[in-house]
Amino acid sequence: MEELILKHALINAIRYGGKADFQAVLGKVLAEKPELRESIKEVVKEVKKIVESVNSLSLEEQKKKAEQIGIEIKKEKIEEEKELPPLPEAEEGKVVMRLAPFPSGPLHIGNARMVILNDEYVKKYKGKLFLVIDDTIGSEEKFVIPEAYDLIIEGLEWLGVKYDKIFYKSERLEIFYEFGEKLIKAELAYVCECDAETLRKNRREGIECEHRKQSIEENLEKWRNMISGKYREGEAVLRLKTDMKHPNPAFRDRVLARVVEREHPRVGKKYKVWPMLEFSWAVDDLLLGITHILRGKDLIIEDMVEEFIWDKLKIEKKPKFIHYGLLSIKEAKLSKTYARKAIESGEYSGWDDPRTWSLQSLKKRGIQPEALRKFILSMGLSLADVSVPAEILYAENRKIIDPIANRYFAVLNPVKISVENGKEIREVEAPLHPDFKERGFRKIPFDSRKIWIEKEDFENLEGKEVGLINLFTVKLGKKSEFISEEIRFEDPKIQWVSEPNVKIKIVMPDGSLKEGIAEPALANLSENSLVQLIRIGFARVDKVGKEIVLYFSHK
Ligand SMILES: [Zn+2]
Repeated sequence: MEELILKHALINAIRYGGKADFQAVLGKVLAEKPELRESIKEVVKEVKKIVESVNSLSLEEQKKKAEQIGIEIKKEKIEEEKELPPLPEAEEGKVVMRLAPFPSGPLHIGNARMVILNDEYVKKYKGKLFLVIDDTIGSEEKFVIPEAYDLIIEGLEWLGVKYDKIFYKSERLEIFYEFGEKLIKAELAYVCECDAETLRKNRREGIECEHRKQSIEENLEKWRNMISGKYREGEAVLRLKTDMKHPNPAFRDRVLARVVEREHPRVGKKYKVWPMLEFSWAVDDLLLGITHILRGKDLIIEDMVEEFIWDKLKIEKKPKFIHYGLLSIKEAKLSKTYARKAIESGEYSGWDDPRTWSLQSLKKRGIQPEALRKFILSMGLSLADVSVPAEILYAENRKIIDPIANRYFAVLNPVKISVENGKEIREVEAPLHPDFKERGFRKIPFDSRKIWIEKEDFENLEGKEVGLINLFTVKLGKKSEFISEEIRFEDPKIQWVSEPNVKIKIVMPDGSLKEGIAEPALANLSENSLVQLIRIGFARVDKVGKEIVLYFSHK
């Protein structure tokens, strides 16, 4: 049984960047030997033990071990990259695409899908990418926040996405106004003065209001009056003349523009009439020469409005829509509005709080942009909504940072022990990275009377023979007994901290704070260093001072 478990633990660990997953290994073991279900309790215990043992090894060591016992790890499946499907009617050098973030906050991991897919397609077709900041006035609930402009650009830089030109919707109001005139003149739009409730009721019942019959001249005059501020908020809207009997009530004479008196962070109160999202897109996608639009499949009605306008205006070369499903992360609540409120109330520390899942927060946690890109691309362009565990992203990230991150000891819930009758050592040398000995060693001070280990380890392993990593084997107790210089593979191995040590704080992905102690070498690191706290996980050093602040990446 042990051999079988070890085999699957190693295969799983090597596949996923050095970290075997208990559930996955258990599943494989039971699939291969179903009769083991009869002694499931012992199997679970054994799998736990072996997975932990395997995970305490570095990726290189795991590969060595696998080779020793003759396991072949098939690689083709994991290395295979999903190629994106071709864009319809796309010609090399002629593709123009756009990113359209609404600046109600920085880009988060869900938005990264839109960004990366656009970027990949533009590269694939050697096309152009425009950044069109979608800063129309928004709503009372979801509005433009001034700091979001820079945060979005910063996020794109971090992702390595280059755009050819930047546009701001808020600078293009006059263009939308002109286009409104054009639609009125083509008898495709009218100014409606019905109050919101009448408008809704008529739409529901398919009734045309009196304003629909206004002449072009009347509409033009009213439209100009809207723009010059003669109407107050709620008194008039510009509506698209679709069909008041359209089977989809939401599409019946949709509102294209409305009076909004709120202040805009970029243009203040200069403009009183603001376009709805889909109207501004119908104009800009056309005028900016966009050829392909990648869009969440939840925005189908926006497509319909754009297409309706283009068809009525007899536009021959219409942009093409390509849809994809929503990406969510099981552990994340992806809402900028929620995040903004949580920041305002002080619940979140800021836009880089790990709970926002903003690109800034991922950077702070030591997630690498290349890992995020691979993660996004691994999901392709599927139309299905995908909700994935963050572990898939972490596995990509682990592959990148495992070789970079040097190893250190830390203990979060310290229990003090001492070792009797051991050798008198004042200092231990341990490699900075087990796979790259050439990086050198760190010196860990040691005092056999003052050793701290994790409380959990102490409780689980008391009385057992345990390897203190880089040190020796003891029989674990408050007064541990020295057993041997050797640390055997089968024995549990635990990290430790002695004296002197440094205080650390770790900001966890759920926003909680863990405190503990670590070996003093941590104090010599520069900010931004990536480390692996052995048996705790990977982290990014955020601040080095009296205490060291780290942001947790993942296990
Ligand atoms: Zn009306």
